Amino acid sequence: MAGLGVVLLSACCGGKGDTPLYLDDSADMEARIEDALSRMTLEEKTAILHAQSKFSSAGVPRLGIPELWTTDGPHGIRPEVLWDEWRQAGQTNDSCVAFPALTCLAASWDRDLALLYGQSIGEEALYRGKDVLLGPGVNIYRSPLCGRNFEYMGEDPYLASQMVVPYVQGVQQNGVAACVKHYCLNNEESYRHTIDVDVSDRALYEIYLPAFKAAVQQGGAWSIMGSYNLYRGQHVCHNARLLQDILRKEWGFDGAVISDWGGCHDTDEAITNGLDLEFGTWTDGLTMGKTNAYSRYHLADAYLERLRCGTASQEVLDEKCRHVLRLMMRTSMRRDKGFGSLCSDAHYAAARKIATGGIVLLKNREQVLPVTKDVKRIAVIGENAIKWMTVGGGSSSLKVRREVTPLEGIRERAEAEGMEVLYARGYVGNTARTYNGVTAKADYADSRSFEELLEEACQVAAKADIVFFFGGLDKNRYHDAEGADRTIYGLPYRQNEVIEAVAAANPRTVLCLVSGNAVAMPWADAVPSIVQVWYNGSEAGHAVADVLFGDVCPSGKLPFTIPVALEDGPAHCAGTDFPNNGPTRYEEGIYVGYRWFEHKGIRPRFAFGHGLSYTKFEYGKIRLSAWTVRQGGSLTVSVPVTNVGPVAGAEVVQLYISDPACSVERPEKELKGFEKVFLQPGETKTVRMTVGPEALQYFDEQAHAWVAEPGEFIVRVGSSSRDIRWRAKFRLR
Ligand code: BGC
Repeated sequence: MAGLGVVLLSACCGGKGDTPLYLDDSADMEARIEDALSRMTLEEKTAILHAQSKFSSAGVPRLGIPELWTTDGPHGIRPEVLWDEWRQAGQTNDSCVAFPALTCLAASWDRDLALLYGQSIGEEALYRGKDVLLGPGVNIYRSPLCGRNFEYMGEDPYLASQMVVPYVQGVQQNGVAACVKHYCLNNEESYRHTIDVDVSDRALYEIYLPAFKAAVQQGGAWSIMGSYNLYRGQHVCHNARLLQDILRKEWGFDGAVISDWGGCHDTDEAITNGLDLEFGTWTDGLTMGKTNAYSRYHLADAYLERLRCGTASQEVLDEKCRHVLRLMMRTSMRRDKGFGSLCSDAHYAAARKIATGGIVLLKNREQVLPVTKDVKRIAVIGENAIKWMTVGGGSSSLKVRREVTPLEGIRERAEAEGMEVLYARGYVGNTARTYNGVTAKADYADSRSFEELLEEACQVAAKADIVFFFGGLDKNRYHDAEGADRTIYGLPYRQNEVIEAVAAANPRTVLCLVSGNAVAMPWADAVPSIVQVWYNGSEAGHAVADVLFGDVCPSGKLPFTIPVALEDGPAHCAGTDFPNNGPTRYEEGIYVGYRWFEHKGIRPRFAFGHGLSYTKFEYGKIRLSAWTVRQGGSLTVSVPVTNVGPVAGAEVVQLYISDPACSVERPEKELKGFEKVFLQPGETKTVRMTVGPEALQYFDEQAHAWVAEPGEFIVRVGSSSRDIRWRAKFRLR
């Protein structure tokens, strides 16, 4: 009973002055952890290291330590499943707001929106009683075929790092932990459990790790999820190098390492190599979904036996428990938490703001957009105009209280202007509307033939002043979905044929692509306008209407390159299979995304960082704070930007660095700074971007250190990775 007193006392009672002990994320918290640890039995210690249900792990009831509840993530709070099953619990109070997919957030290049996203989704998690949000995901976009790219933040390590930090901070402000996933090298889905990745240390440190490192060191993430794949022959969930050497020793991570669901395969490795919390294991001899297998997890009875007979160390056990207790102190044990909120007006507004901030105007010939007042009739064509994209796609699938489809959003907006909206389906794709027990509102069944649908689409298109074709991918398997990769780069469901026919019927056809991935666009020259719309969650329809009608000026920029052909891209260079099973060497090394296209001199369809606006921005002359920088010093680059167009808008000013004469190969351009600047017509603001020492460095494999070689560097400032407005040289001494 004495033990009960102390642990509970410091959890419930105030501390010094106005600040209760439990608010403190430092020394007092550590004292409480040691106190708890000193009172826990061996059985209690191992019990907190593995799941007790699909999404929760045990606390220590005797000491008043509550259980820990996790939830997917990363776009909304997953509906409740049964205790032991993946099946829906059938609750009626677990609908949520779906926020835009993370590709859209990344495309906003707006750190404030990332913070708003984290704060809002964190509030929803808190309201639903969750302690750990399984997200955000920051795996690098290596190939447009990866089925899960929509859950990640694009191809560039700097952009992903800059966006993940505020997201994590926003979530954690609620006393809910972010669990950054999937650490790391989980860049394909089809063979995610068996692919064994090998990559140069340079590519690992320069491309695949930075976003995780930023989430840990700058974002202060309280937990991280080990990925399914292997790295150099060892599963990542118990990979000594990635977890012990890098995450713990190099980065100083003090939170909990959580396995991906079923990512733990070996008891001894899990014990010694740094896994803290085991979830979802398909224990040997049991099949997926078998109930009550938790005692047979690697970190359960098998661990306990080793501890009892002395073959496993007590120190290692205590260290794991410290990590988990720390996670609990920061989340489930907090008493200063608010209540959060679910489906609030503020969350819908946040979802809409993030979505409009991320939509990318790829092309806009003859200013076909935005819709002008003289438009009388609008044709909306395509299945993606009526589909609920929050249902499907794997673990990120949601049960939303409402989802506004593009057709609904456009109708609402157009009818307010007295415009007529016609709709034609155009093509029928996958008509499944139920996913994991959640059913989308509309019935997608349509028995008409392809020819009938095509004819109707062309007739409707011909009658309208402007056409919005809503196509792209969806959340079905082999599209943008977990567990399998896309099989083709092109659009599914014969959409290309429909697009070509519709564009011929009405030259004012705007292509609205709903997807989380690049797609082949053989019709790109045949249509005047292309908009990358993304998966935009609950407010999808409102957000896209905001942009199409010019209520919001588009300001998103691509977080990945759109190649003309799949073979142009890095993961598909000669001799490399994607997706690949078993041992897989990332032959392209550091040349991922635009780094590859620049290196090979391949012109993409749309470049990384590209995105147009309804207004125009002029860049004044850049100024550097110095022409010579000392080792370890920094440089500030300033550039005045003026909105010389007719409407208010925002520009993302991008800064790229290169080191043309270096003893090792360096990419032609590397993003090392950006600012999103909002400008009224005629307004000028000076954008300042400071480049620190790390922006000049490469990872030296032999020295295992970051190195910047003295000499000449080039700084480029522009509106995309290819639209460079200024270039200047400076020296590093
Ligand atoms: C996914 C994770 C997810 C987990 C729990 C796994 O299959 O890879 O991202 O958080 O399931 O649903």
